Amino acid sequence: MTAEITIDKNAGFCFGVVKAIGKAEEELERQGKLYCLGDLVHNNAEVARLRSKGLQVVDRKMFEELHDTEVLIRAHGEPPMTYDVARQHNVRLIDATCPIVLSLQQKVRKGFEEMRQIGGQVVIYGLPGHAEVIGLNGQADNTAIIVSNIDDLVAIDVTKPVRLYSQTTKNREDYKHLAEELKRLMKNDDFEVYDTVCNSVANRAKELEQFAHEVDMLLFVAGEHSSNGRYLYDYCRRVQPNTYIIASENELKGEWLNGRGKIGITGATSTPRWLMEQVMECCEKLLAQKK
Ligand code: SF4
Repeated sequence: MTAEITIDKNAGFCFGVVKAIGKAEEELERQGKLYCLGDLVHNNAEVARLRSKGLQVVDRKMFEELHDTEVLIRAHGEPPMTYDVARQHNVRLIDATCPIVLSLQQKVRKGFEEMRQIGGQVVIYGLPGHAEVIGLNGQADNTAIIVSNIDDLVAIDVTKPVRLYSQTTKNREDYKHLAEELKRLMKNDDFEVYDTVCNSVANRAKELEQFAHEVDMLLFVAGEHSSNGRYLYDYCRRVQPNTYIIASENELKGEWLNGRGKIGITGATSTPRWLMEQVMECCEKLLAQKK
């Protein structure tokens, strides 16, 4: 049987990531070196490519020691504290925060100001420790209650007002379910839920469902720290049980290709297209060896 390999035409970076990488490349072209606070994208292969062009990733501790230089802020955004440190150390920030994240940060800030006046709580549905969540919590002076599942709702005082927001890359259905559960538990009527899931991720799920139906086996390419990668991979597996997640072509196993007529390759919103093309080339080589 001859296998047909297709790369999902809708796969690749979301516009927020495209914009951040574009800014990084522009600066690297201009000055040959640039600091970036945290991994620019949750994809090691793409970070390695940018490192080879002069990008230097610094963690928060290293960032606080920098002076008189330029630092790129990635699409996930940063808490206000980062901007304060930059001002004090004469660091010019090249801000590539995604406009959607920026707008969510403003919403959280507004909700926080409101809640502060009436003794209410800001709740964020997200992954504790995730860069975007750290940035959002900063808008609430680090007082937000972070919940990652229904069990975490016990941390909320249901007798007080609540404003609920979601990290942009969470599953919209799961968020809806959690919001309904919290509404059921609430003993205070002042409860507002904001739909802050990014459509780039929500729409990808629907497109992926279609693509996963069209193939016999799916290779999902994503970095291990990609939040939307994990969610979209789980989504694909529900539709197409023969779905395998890999970070690069090095993790591909020849036996997965046995007897497959249609092989699909797709990825997260942080997976570069060139990486999916490398996976495709590797599949072709492995299939040629089997002939
Ligand atoms: S997933 Fe959405 S919110 Fe996040 S960077 Fe991409 S476009 Fe922006």
